[in-house]
Amino acid sequence: MSQDANQDLPETDEEWREVLTDEEYRILREAGTEPKFSGEYVDQKADGTYVCAGCGTALFDSDTKFESGSGWPSFYEAAKDNVETRLDTSHGMRRTEVVCATCEGHLGHVFEDGPDPTGKRYCINSAALDFESEDE
Ligand SMILES: [Zn+2]
Repeated sequence: MSQDANQDLPETDEEWREVLTDEEYRILREAGTEPKFSGEYVDQKADGTYVCAGCGTALFDSDTKFESGSGWPSFYEAAKDNVETRLDTSHGMRRTEVVCATCEGHLGHVFEDGPDPTGKRYCINSAALDFESEDE
């Protein structure tokens, strides 16, 4: 991770509100969840890279996206060192939260019922992601 890339990141909640949409802010900064099947990337199959909507860090490759039927974009692998996981005990459940390692934005959760080769299912909010097509 480049420290230079972090210098322009917002620091306060007010600064984040200025750079994010309301929905992005609710999810990234307040650990919200978008309604299932509502996100723009649920059914997307194009080749490219999914990056953090907050800071632009590469998080998931389209090659690792799979059809989970959950209603959220699902990946079996995250970009190494660019995401971090934390124990989340909210809502009476023990889940593993996935956050962007660069801006600490909330992305979603990871579960252990994913496909080979990792067995992981990263269940990620579309609003936490931007997509960079390989064609561009
Ligand atoms: Zn980020």
